[in-house]
Amino acid sequence: MGEWLEGSTLAKKIKQKVKEEVSKIKKERNEFPGLAAVLVGDNKASQVYVGMKQRNCERLGIHSEILKFEKDTDPSELKEKIKELNQRDQIDGILVQEPLPPSFSSHEVATTILPEKDVDGLNPCSLGNLLRVESGLRPCTPLGIMELLESQNIGIKGKEVVIIGRSLLVGKPLSIMMTNAHGTVTVCHSRTKDLPQVASRADILVAAMGRGAFVTPDFVKKGAVVIDVGINHLTEKKKVKELFKDPEKRLKDIDKKGYTLIGDVHPGVIDKASFLTPVPGGVGPLTVAMLMHNTLKAYKLRRMI
Ligand code: NAP
Repeated sequence: MGEWLEGSTLAKKIKQKVKEEVSKIKKERNEFPGLAAVLVGDNKASQVYVGMKQRNCERLGIHSEILKFEKDTDPSELKEKIKELNQRDQIDGILVQEPLPPSFSSHEVATTILPEKDVDGLNPCSLGNLLRVESGLRPCTPLGIMELLESQNIGIKGKEVVIIGRSLLVGKPLSIMMTNAHGTVTVCHSRTKDLPQVASRADILVAAMGRGAFVTPDFVKKGAVVIDVGINHLTEKKKVKELFKDPEKRLKDIDKKGYTLIGDVHPGVIDKASFLTPVPGGVGPLTVAMLMHNTLKAYKLRRMI
C-alpha cells in the first residue's frame, strides 16, 4: 500500500514563511503586500474560493479586497476597473475568479492584468515566460504540485510523466513545468485513445479532468506517484459506499453538507501507487498557499527587493 501525500502540511509551511516575511516588511518598511480579487456573477463555488483566499490573506497580514460585479456588467467596465487596480500602488496582485459569465472573454481579462500583478500566472506574458524558462509569476496549482514533489524529493528528471487534462489552468502549464524539469511528458485529453494504457506508462501520473474517481487502478503502474487535482461533489451515499473502504466520514459529510468532495482518482489506487494525494487535503491547500506566495513575490518584484 502506498502513502497518502498530504499537501496541507507543506501548505502550512509555505504560508508560515510568507507570514514571517510580510511581518518583516511591515516592520522595516511600514508596508504590506495587497491582493485584489474580482468576482463576477453569483457562482456559489467562486464566492467560497474568493472568501477562502481573503481569509488566508488576513491571517498572513496581506491586505485584501474583493470587488464584486453583477453577471450582466458591461465587460468594458470590468476592464476599466482592472486598469485602475493596475495603477494602484497598494495592490500587488490581481486575480479574476473563473469561471466568468459567457459575455466576458477570459483571454481579454487575463491580458488586461499587468504581468507584474498577475498572481494567477495566466496572462499571455506570464505563460510566455514559463515557455521561455524566464522568471515570472507561475500558475498556482501547477506550481503547488511542483513544490509538493520537490518537498518529497521526488525527482522528475528522466521520468515518464502523464498528465490527464489540458486546461490552461492546470494541465498545459504543468506540462511545461514538468518538461522544464526534464520529465518526458505526455498530455492526455478527451480524444486520447486507450487512456488507461497511456496512463499506465507513467512514473508520475497527474489527473486534472474533473471526473470523479475516473482514474481506476488499471490506469496506474505499480509504484507510480499519483497526483489528484480533481475536485468533484459526490452526493450519492450508494456511490460513497462503493468507493470507500471506510465511508463513515464521507457519509457524515453528505448528511451535513449534502455532498462530499472526491478527486479524479479512485481511492483504490492507494493500493498500487507509491504516493497518492488525497482529496480534500492534497493539491487544494497548496493552490491557496502558492497564491499567497505569488502575492508576496509580486510585491517584491515590483520593488526589486
Ligand atoms: P477543465 O478546464 O474542465 O479541463 C478538463 C480537462 O480534462 C480537459 O482537457 C478535458 O479534455 C479533460 N477530460 C475531461 N474528461 C476526460 C476524459 N473522459 N478523458 C480524458 N480527458 C478528459 O478543468 P480544469 O480547470 O483543468 O480542472 C480539472 C479539475 O481540477 C476540476 O475538478 C477542478 O475543479 C480541479 N481543480 C482543482 C484545483 C485545486 O486547487 N485542487 C485547481 C484547479 C482545478 P478536452 O480538453 O478534450 O475537453
